[in-house]
Amino acid sequence: MLDFVKIRTILFDMDGVLYCGKQVLPGVREIIAFCKQQKIVCACITNNATLTPQQYDQKLTELGILIPGSHVIGSAFVTNLYLREQYPSGTTVYIIGMDGLHKFLLADNYFTLQEQNPQIVVQSADLTLTYQKLKTACLAIRAGARFIATNTDRSFPTEEGLAPGSGAITAAIQAATDVAPFVIGKPQPTIFRTAINLLGSTPETTLMIGDRLETDILGAKSVGIHTALVLTGVTKRTNLVNSSVQPDFVFDDLRETLKALQKVYSDA
Ligand SMILES: [Mg+2]
Repeated sequence: MLDFVKIRTILFDMDGVLYCGKQVLPGVREIIAFCKQQKIVCACITNNATLTPQQYDQKLTELGILIPGSHVIGSAFVTNLYLREQYPSGTTVYIIGMDGLHKFLLADNYFTLQEQNPQIVVQSADLTLTYQKLKTACLAIRAGARFIATNTDRSFPTEEGLAPGSGAITAAIQAATDVAPFVIGKPQPTIFRTAINLLGSTPETTLMIGDRLETDILGAKSVGIHTALVLTGVTKRTNLVNSSVQPDFVFDDLRETLKALQKVYSDA
């Protein structure tokens, strides 16, 4: 059984854990206040690659969630760090993606945007995807460019229902090129390891709280991070019964998580 007192860092997934659309979920502000009091570091870890840290800052502030944008570790941010470790300045890239990804990769001219024969194709969710963009990416990959995907979430929830996500675009490129991407986001280990390094934490002292078994929980477990599932998002208790992925803890919502934390601290 995990000793909660050892937890010094909590990584929150965002959608389905902190909020649902524009609605803040129960217990969010309270658990963050408690963590602050106990000097537990709170950060977010998300596959979403569309927003910049400034946009996250604004979004979280508007929702009254006191986590700074600089503590939102998104797949665009991690993709950028990963690529800079692997490739020298001046490396050419073609990007399918939105503001967040473009800004990270291109802001300081470390990478050069190039449509024909780039060294790398970086692909993410793109709400303005066109056939031309798909074609450019596929031709580049067929000509030898490395294929990197920020995440492979196939869909994301909208008010109209599930919309095609980054993974749907990945699937189209993969179908046309027979090349599988190197994936940065959850459940792959890169995003978790980067988060822990940046926050100066260790897997043993970190708790991941998520709502998806196959990304949040599976990925965190694979690098030795403790896991808690909250049932405020896509997973229901019945989904757990036959799942090969089992979290260390299951809570109805963050109010219950907070109660568990408070109990440990009052006993300690
Ligand atoms: Mg989620």
